[in-house]
Amino acid sequence: MWWKTNPSFFTEEQERLAINYPSLDCLIENNTVYMRGKLQIANIAAFDIEIKLPDDYPNSLPEVKELGGKIPISGERHINYDGTCCLTVPVKMHQALGKDYSITDFIEKFVMPFFANQVYYEIHGVWANGDYSHGDLGILECYKDILKLSNLQQITELMKIALQIFPKTTKTCPCRSGKKLRDCHLPELINLKATIPTNLLKKNYKTFMSYIR
Ligand SMILES: [Zn+2]
Ligand SMILES: [Zn+2]
Repeated sequence: MWWKTNPSFFTEEQERLAINYPSLDCLIENNTVYMRGKLQIANIAAFDIEIKLPDDYPNSLPEVKELGGKIPISGERHINYDGTCCLTVPVKMHQALGKDYSITDFIEKFVMPFFANQVYYEIHGVWANGDYSHGDLGILECYKDILKLSNLQQITELMKIALQIFPKTTKTCPCRSGKKLRDCHLPELINLKATIPTNLLKKNYKTFMSYIR
């Protein structure tokens, strides 16, 4: 329970929430921390939302739900079947937030834009600034961007290397450039290892491999 093991961080998070998002309340239910209340999008819309902080917060990311039934549950709208919001691809969020983020960073960077985009979509029927596809395809699109590779096979090869504790960088790069990894996709490899939690990397790797086999 992160809030028990790190009570000062929990206090700081509560203070930050109270200052920046006073319409969201922080409460504990069954040992889980929730933040619930209204999220105001400029003067045009408000959503009743719930943010659930995982037991290993901030290692794992919070989950967000819209409680008012204003957004249909569908992949098109980036709402998962369990009602959680698909804010964006988790890998992307880890990349943008780094390891020492606060709840206000998370809300500012991902929750506010998500709901602002929903308002935009409601009006225009399209997303404001494009988006990754919903589901596994979106995850792959994100890895393509991060690794600067387009081939699924090559992406999984680089991910496999990233999953090693001490990656061998003197071997040929998976991108088939003919160069050694250390002279080629090393920055992308380091980026991946530094920003994506290993369990998430492993999970995504397994998903991609299931498409190859
Ligand atoms: Zn989605
Ligand atoms: Zn390469």
